[in-house]
Amino acid sequence: MKHLFDLTGKTALVTGARTGLGQGLALALAEAGADVATIGSSPMPDTERLIKATGRRFHAQQIDLSKPFNAQAVLDAAISAMGGVDILVNNAGIIRRADIVDVLEEDWDAVIDVNLKSVFLLSQAAARHMIATGRAGRIVNIASMLSFQGGVRVPAYAASKHGVAGLTKAMANELAPKGITVNAIAPGYMETDNTEALRNDPDRHAQISARIPAARWGMPADLATAILFFAAPGSPYVTGTVLPVDGGWMVR
Ligand code: NAP
Repeated sequence: MKHLFDLTGKTALVTGARTGLGQGLALALAEAGADVATIGSSPMPDTERLIKATGRRFHAQQIDLSKPFNAQAVLDAAISAMGGVDILVNNAGIIRRADIVDVLEEDWDAVIDVNLKSVFLLSQAAARHMIATGRAGRIVNIASMLSFQGGVRVPAYAASKHGVAGLTKAMANELAPKGITVNAIAPGYMETDNTEALRNDPDRHAQISARIPAARWGMPADLATAILFFAAPGSPYVTGTVLPVDGGWMVR
């Protein structure tokens, strides 16, 4: 049974691995045996230390995904450093909060560029590589409760995360015949920098906490089993799904 989840010999490319969920996902993959390449807009010495402590190889590229970037060149750099990419985890994401009537165009663009456009461009480049090398590739996107719901004061974020769900399904359809799966994890409310403003707002914190059946906010480690399930060699027939990992939020 263990071999179904064994990632020894595989390489994962994880975006936004410096902090929060991305760091947790990178660590879970390394603990299952994968070497880890990363992308982030700033250095990530803590993540490097954690991954190397598992005995796995680590590689980092500093890329600002809110600016135009050459996704093919980024993939090629990861491939040449690590020997290939088997698993792509599109985790990097930002949120900008404002009333609908006050949203700035530059904030709209930044959120869509990081959360959705980079997901497409990196997935496209990864798919080319996986097809060309005949890999049973795995692409895992990080969606959100706002892939299903509208949220409050985060319209670009909700639009981007609905887009991530749609893109997951569209890519799954086309890539399934090539042996590549595309799935998404939709985390609930997790304790990371992304939700710091919410947790610091006593009213919103209380409203959200009251709706979580598990009676707590999630932690990065709560996503470990979901990422291993989607990344695993033993999951070739699971594709196009958006899996909530939310302590029951969606069914409340
Ligand atoms: P986080 O701690 O703020 O992490 C975001 C990560 O994305 C950071 O490592 C950051 O690294 C990277 N990033 C941000 N802007 C970037 C850019 N322009 N270019 C490259 N990398 C960039 O938040 P998180 O909660 O872990 O979020 C991770 C993902 O989970 C996001 O897609 C988020 O939407 C999603 N999510 C979070 C929650 C939650 O409750 N926390 C719920 C649902 C979904 P650098 O600073 O180095 O760039």
